[in-house]
Amino acid sequence: MSEESLFTRIINRELPADILYEDDQCIVINDISPQAPVHMLVIPRLPIAKLADAKHSDRALMGHLMWVAGEVARMAGVSDAFRLVVNNGKGAGQTVFHLHLHVLANKGFQDTFSEDNL
Ligand code: AMP
Repeated sequence: MSEESLFTRIINRELPADILYEDDQCIVINDISPQAPVHMLVIPRLPIAKLADAKHSDRALMGHLMWVAGEVARMAGVSDAFRLVVNNGKGAGQTVFHLHLHVLANKGFQDTFSEDNL
């Protein structure tokens, strides 16, 4: 990538964010415009633009991101009911071209999961 992504700037503390978790491979922040009561973003430090750009050698990182999603869901108290979303490409609604997993949960209202509110 020739230019730093928005999320790289957050990772480098050049922009503010609610950082909920971080390790050597990724960071988790609250989404600035939440679409559900719990809306976290799991972001690899490696600036892969989109999921389909992940390489064979990124497989362990991809697995780690999934594990972290479950871990932060537990931390947020929503491990019984949450949804993982990855928007891949502009046509699928991706706006920030630095791979991220959306972790969405209607905390306390798990029975209201639907396409309309997620
Ligand atoms: P996507 O549309 O899948 O690319 O998701 C990008 C997400 O990043 C959206 O849900 C935005 O609300 C979120 N977002 C954009 N800017 C920020 C920011 N500065 N801090 C936290 N989340 C952000």
